[in-house]
Amino acid sequence: MHWSFDIRSGLLVGALLTLLVGVLLAVVARALPANLRPAVTPWIAATLLQPVGFVLLTQRDVLPPWLTIVVANALIALAFAAYGLALRRFFQLPARAGLLSLAVALAVATSAWWGLVQPDLTQRLIAISLVLAWMLGYSAWTIYRRSDARGPIRHVAGGAFLFSSLIMAYRAVVLVYDPGQVTTVFQLTHVQLLTYALGGILPVVATLGFLLLCTERSQRELERAARVDYLTGVYNRRAIEELGTRAIAAARRHGMSLAALVVDIDHFKRINDELGHAAGDHALVRAVERIRDELRTEDLLGRLGGEEFIVLMPSTDSASAVAAAERIRESFSAQPLVLGDQRRQVTLSIGVAVLAPADRQFSQLLQRADRAMYAAKKAGRDLVMADGMGGWEATPPGA
Ligand code: GH3
Ligand code: MG
Ligand code: MG
Repeated sequence: MHWSFDIRSGLLVGALLTLLVGVLLAVVARALPANLRPAVTPWIAATLLQPVGFVLLTQRDVLPPWLTIVVANALIALAFAAYGLALRRFFQLPARAGLLSLAVALAVATSAWWGLVQPDLTQRLIAISLVLAWMLGYSAWTIYRRSDARGPIRHVAGGAFLFSSLIMAYRAVVLVYDPGQVTTVFQLTHVQLLTYALGGILPVVATLGFLLLCTERSQRELERAARVDYLTGVYNRRAIEELGTRAIAAARRHGMSLAALVVDIDHFKRINDELGHAAGDHALVRAVERIRDELRTEDLLGRLGGEEFIVLMPSTDSASAVAAAERIRESFSAQPLVLGDQRRQVTLSIGVAVLAPADRQFSQLLQRADRAMYAAKKAGRDLVMADGMGGWEATPPGA
C-alpha cells in the first residue's frame, strides 16, 4: 500500500489548528481571573503569530524569500518567545526580555544569512533548529523548575515543550551528521515529517496545557479566598469551624487535649468612632500580627467576626493555654498598637476553654470559650478567664 504525506498540507492544517485554539483561548480568557491576563495575553499573541509564520513558510514558490524565510522564521521565533514570556509571567518570574529578544535576533540573523546572503539550506535548518530548540527548552524549563505547578497537569504543557525542543535538537544533529539528506525544504524525510507535522500539533497541546494550568491556578485561588478573611488574612469563620471539627477528631483519636481561646478587643467601637473606620481596619490587621507573634506554628488563628478572634491550640492543656492567653493579653497591654502615625492603647479580653469529654461538636467548645470571654468582659476587661466547666477561674492581670 502506498501512502503519502504532504508537508505543506500538514503545516497548513497545523497552522489552522493553532489559530483556532488561539481564538478559543482569547474567548475564554475573559472568564479567567484578571491577575492571569498578563500571562494569557502573550500566549494568545503566540498562537496568532505562529500560524502566520507557518503559512508564510508554505508559500515558498509564490512569495519572495525574505518573506518566506526571514519573516516566517522571525514570526515563529517571536511566537516561541511569547510562549516563554507568558510562562515567565504565569510563574511570576522576571520577564528576561533581553534573553528572549536575543533568541529572536539570532533566528532572524541566521535565516537572513543562510537564506539570502549565502543561501545554504542545511546550514540554515541547523541554525534555526538550534535556536528554536533552545527557546522551546527554555519554556519547558520554566514549567519544570517551579514546584508550585504540582501534579500531573504541568506535564501537558511541559511535555509538549520538552518534546518539541528535543525534536528540534534532533533535527540539528541529524543534519550535522547527514548534511545532504535535505535538498529542498518540503522534502519528505522522517526528520522533516517529525518537525512539521508535530510542530503543528504541539502548540495545540501546549495551549491546552497552559489553559489547564490557568484554571488550576484560579481554582486554587478561589479555594483559598473562600477560607481566608479578606481583611486580616487569617482563617475565616467557615474555615476555622472546619479546622476545629478536624482538630477535635484528631485530639480524641490521639487522646490529646485541645484548647480554644476566644479573643475580643476591648472597646473597639471607640477606635472606629474616634479614629475612623479605616483606622479600625488597620488596628484589626495590627492586632492579628501581634497575636500571631505569640503563637506556635501548629496553632490555628481565625476571625469569628468583627473584632473577635479564635485561637485553636492542639496538644495544649488548660494551664498552658491560660499562660499563652496571658502572654497575648500582656503583649497588648504592654505597648500600644502603631496605626500609621498614631499610637493607640488596645486591650484584650480572652476566654479559654479546653476540650471536655462531653464536647461532641466544635460549637460546644467555642461556646464555653466565648462564655469565659464574656465573663472577662464583665469582670472589667483586659483579663483572661478560663472556663472551669461550670465556674470561672479568673487569672488576675500579672498573675
Ligand atoms: P467590648 O469591649 O464590649 O468588646 O466593646 P466593643 O466596642 O469592642 O464591642 P462591640 O461589639 O460593641 O463593637 C464592636 C465594633 O467593631 C462594632 C463594629 O463597628 C466594629 N467592627 C466590626 N467589624 C469591623 C471591621 O471589619 N472593621 C472595623 N473598622 N470595625 C469593625
Ligand atoms: Mg470588643
Ligand atoms: Mg465583639
